[in-house]
Amino acid sequence: MSEKILLQKGRLIDPGTGRDEVVDIRIVDGVIEAIKPAITPQPDEKVVDLKGKIVAPGFIDIHVHLREPGFEHKETIETGTRSAAYGGFTAVCCMPNTNPAIDDESLVSFVQMKGRNVNNGIVDVYPIASVSKGREGKTLAPIAELVGAGAVGLSDDGAPVFDAKVMRRALEYASMYNVPIMQHCEIPELAHGGVMNEGLVSTELGLPGIPGIAEEIMIARDLALAEYTNSRYHVCHMSTRRSVELVREGKQKGIKVTCEVTPHHFTLIDDEVRSYDTNTKMNPPLRTQKDIEAIKQGLKDGTIDVIATDHAPHSLDEKEVDYIQAPFGIVGLETAIGLTITELVEKKILTITQMIEKFSTNPRKIIGREVKVIEGEKANLTFFDPAFEWKVEIEQFHSKSKNSPFQGRVLRGKAVGIINNGTMLVF
Ligand SMILES: [Zn+2]
Ligand SMILES: [Zn+2]
Repeated sequence: MSEKILLQKGRLIDPGTGRDEVVDIRIVDGVIEAIKPAITPQPDEKVVDLKGKIVAPGFIDIHVHLREPGFEHKETIETGTRSAAYGGFTAVCCMPNTNPAIDDESLVSFVQMKGRNVNNGIVDVYPIASVSKGREGKTLAPIAELVGAGAVGLSDDGAPVFDAKVMRRALEYASMYNVPIMQHCEIPELAHGGVMNEGLVSTELGLPGIPGIAEEIMIARDLALAEYTNSRYHVCHMSTRRSVELVREGKQKGIKVTCEVTPHHFTLIDDEVRSYDTNTKMNPPLRTQKDIEAIKQGLKDGTIDVIATDHAPHSLDEKEVDYIQAPFGIVGLETAIGLTITELVEKKILTITQMIEKFSTNPRKIIGREVKVIEGEKANLTFFDPAFEWKVEIEQFHSKSKNSPFQGRVLRGKAVGIINNGTMLVF
């Protein structure tokens, strides 16, 4: 017997087709059968009322740490994808800084297989493999085999590819297979030992700083390499005003550069560190108001292509130590839509359509996993309520970890469901 679903009266916004209208959508066995202004429900059909809600091509978070294999006490592929689903994502790209690092075909296959076997496979798991063997930055990982096995990008995230020669070769190889090198931009000698943004606040608190130039110098170097090799280059979690300018200039010159920012980098500044809450410690660190203004401008004018969370779960024990010792990173999947609507859509930085571009259209294009919302295609959709007001309660997170600086914050906008691979989740 076939499974029929009728999504009623949702506002379908698909930047891919330019569509923005209130419609009914009939889905039969996971495939879109009809999109029409009104469809009469059939008796054997599951009807979902989406009045006032938005229906978008499935959201993807291209920067997530699922921690498996090796750090299952922080997160697993099962808990991480559940967190993604409840955050409104039908896909995640997971970073290779696991133990062992995702640097061979069998590990790429393991992550994909695990992703298909948890939560009914509702969230697609696309592995990002490491650029270098063991993420040590010295010799290249077997890029052809990794891409052949399904890796959608390459990154040594958690660490930069600091050797310029290794980076050059990586760019050249990756471009042969049309995958991006996704760089964690940081000059180690400048960043090492730092725990927060270097500036007035770090001086007052007496904490060692990570200067913005640690990020900017590496972006400048990499842009030169990307231009020289005519290769695709993606900047992860960009955090400073100058970084935005560098990417803007790079794009104007025709360099094949794309970039992402995290919700915490457009929401919080380094003043938050005064609380000594270790959930304000991440890498790159929270910067300043002028950086936030530049990031918002970059999002608005299209310099910044993608919003990605850098979801980085850590257990309570690991974060409940003093600020210097605490690991970098926060969870982000379940607050991303709320923070984006609250900080960017409500404040008229982005339209809802632009927000959907940055959560779906653009990141999917970067990794070559586009979604079409048309009749005859597989249903891969995110439903969200842009007006819903809610309070962040970390205990309600589906992630195994609760390390979020947003506990108690009131946000506007929340995912209400997803459908993908023939499974629907409405919450
Ligand atoms: Zn990183
Ligand atoms: Zn990361």
